[in-house]
Amino acid sequence: MSAYEKAERYFDHAAEVMGLSDNMRILLKTPLREVKVQIALEMDDGQIGTYIGYRIQHDNARGPMKGGLRFHPAVDADEVLMLASLMTWKTAVVNLPYGGAKGGISIDVSKLSHRELESITRKFVDELHDVFGPDTDIPAPDMGTNAQVMAWIMNQYAKYHGYSPACVTGKPVELHGAYGRNEATGRGVAIITRSALEKLKKPVSGARVAIQGFGNVGSFTAEILHEMGAEIIAVSDAFGAIKNEEGLDIPELLKHMEEYKKVEGFDGAEEIDNSTLLTADVDVLIPAAIGGVLTKENADDIRAKLIIEAANNPTTPDADEIFERKEILVIPDILANAGGVTVSYFEWVQNRQHFKWELEEVRKRLEKIMVTGFDRVWKIAEEKKISPRIAAYVLGIGRVGRATVLGGI
Ligand code: NAD
Repeated sequence: MSAYEKAERYFDHAAEVMGLSDNMRILLKTPLREVKVQIALEMDDGQIGTYIGYRIQHDNARGPMKGGLRFHPAVDADEVLMLASLMTWKTAVVNLPYGGAKGGISIDVSKLSHRELESITRKFVDELHDVFGPDTDIPAPDMGTNAQVMAWIMNQYAKYHGYSPACVTGKPVELHGAYGRNEATGRGVAIITRSALEKLKKPVSGARVAIQGFGNVGSFTAEILHEMGAEIIAVSDAFGAIKNEEGLDIPELLKHMEEYKKVEGFDGAEEIDNSTLLTADVDVLIPAAIGGVLTKENADDIRAKLIIEAANNPTTPDADEIFERKEILVIPDILANAGGVTVSYFEWVQNRQHFKWELEEVRKRLEKIMVTGFDRVWKIAEEKKISPRIAAYVLGIGRVGRATVLGGI
């Protein structure tokens, strides 16, 4: 079963709960536009490199489409479509005036020079500038892309359409970016973790947490949960995993990361196997790396009572059923990691107003949107006696469906 077909199962379950007609299901699931482009360039060694780029626009009933760009070898049309559809439901769950899209290039950025990465990014925009735009489709960072890549996108887009900082978000603060965008997804994940722990009658202070992935999302999640008083017991990245039963010294670990770029070798911890991180004896497990890591093969071994999906699509539907049976509470990606797109929205608003908000303003508004989203989803889950995941889909699909009908078909 493809990644998209797996994610569709959640949609279908929610559609069943809502009594959605077949026609409406097909309409809401069908993407608006799928674009696939060739990107060819001369590599540093003089060879020709040819790559495939994608942009899939899933739905625009509620506003311009919004979604990240992923540069990763596993990127393909199926994965991009799945991620684009998640963006449609995610922007609706936290009530941002956006639809959903996603894009990417199938490439290993760790093998590229700075010049090659810039060249590939600019060529991607050369091919796709007509489908992007501040009122149509606004890209942002995801795995393998960062603020620098967004700056190149803004610059290249301007060559075709003129000055338009709102055409892309996640830009550097020095170049029309928003304060707080870098930390936004991790901060949102921490806020949602605290809210979910409250429902389990457990304070965040002293809660034991394991985090898979220590990139943008994982590291900020660790830092902010640590500030809230949680104990981060174990973390991992693509190279290895570390653990300290007394809680890792996160400020020191962040310094270590700056120097060595991987968690391995950190003085204040023992090294563990990457897969044992997922089954660590903790209160909260936070997958914050790649998709499809919680499967029917390992679901029975998970000991956490709460899973917060910081990554997109980390849980397969089979694993999700096991978690429900084991009464492990799962807060879904389309709510848990919505902090990133929320502050991207703030950046877009600021760019359009040519007015920069203070960091405190960004954090205050992010907190409000995340807590409101959590409360709405929790209420639906309680009322309808369904999981928070299906409740989030019910909320998102309901909002997109109503906008579609009101706008006229
Ligand atoms: P990133 O590239 O900054 O970091 C990814 C991290 O995962 C790195 O530490 C990498 O080493 C690690 N990793 C990769 N494969 C791994 C493996 N097999 N086991 C353990 N660790 C592994 O990416 P990011 O921006 O932090 O994104 C992480 C996840 O969060 C992705 O699923 C992304 O779609 C999702 N997400 C990101 C944002 C955002 O604003 N950046 C917003 C919403 C969702």
